[in-house]
Amino acid sequence: MVYFQLKITANLVGLDKLQPRGGLDDPDHPYFIKLQCENCGEITPCFSCVMLSEEVPLPRLHGRGTVNLVQKCKLCDRVGTVKMIPGFGKPFKHTSAERGRYVRIMVFECHGFSPVEFSFGAVWTAQSREKLWEMDLSKGEFNDFDERIHVTDLKAKFERVFFS
Ligand SMILES: [Zn+2]
Repeated sequence: MVYFQLKITANLVGLDKLQPRGGLDDPDHPYFIKLQCENCGEITPCFSCVMLSEEVPLPRLHGRGTVNLVQKCKLCDRVGTVKMIPGFGKPFKHTSAERGRYVRIMVFECHGFSPVEFSFGAVWTAQSREKLWEMDLSKGEFNDFDERIHVTDLKAKFERVFFS
C-alpha cells in the first residue's frame, strides 16, 4: 500500500485552528489534488476533486471495495485510484504557524497515481478570540484588514508514508 500524507502550513494572524468548515474528516469537504501518473509521468492538467462521501467501486481488475476516485491517465490510459483515509489529521494551530511547521490534515491511499499538488479551495474555518471565521482560501490567502485577521503564506505538500 502506498500512502501519502497531505501537510499544510500557513501564517495565522489573530486566528487559531484552521481547518475545513466541517472538520478535517467532513464527508462533504472537497479536497482538490493534482495527480501524476506513475506509469508515464504525465501530470493531469486539472485538479481532481475527492471527498469522503463520494465513493466509487474499484475497477474489477483492481479488486473489491470502494475508493473515492478512479481516474484514467489521458496519455497512457493506465487506471489509478485514490482513497481517503480519515482520522489522521489535525487542525492547523497558531503554535505550529509560529514554528513554521507543517501539520498533517489528510491521508490518501493511491494506486497508479501520486498526488503532487493541493489546492485549498473553499470553505475553511478558523477561530479568533471572538468568533468563528468562514473563509474561501482558493486565492491562497484570506484577509480582513478591519479586524486584523489574516491567513497568508498557505503552503501544502504531500509526503509518502508507510503504515504497518
Ligand atoms: Zn500515464
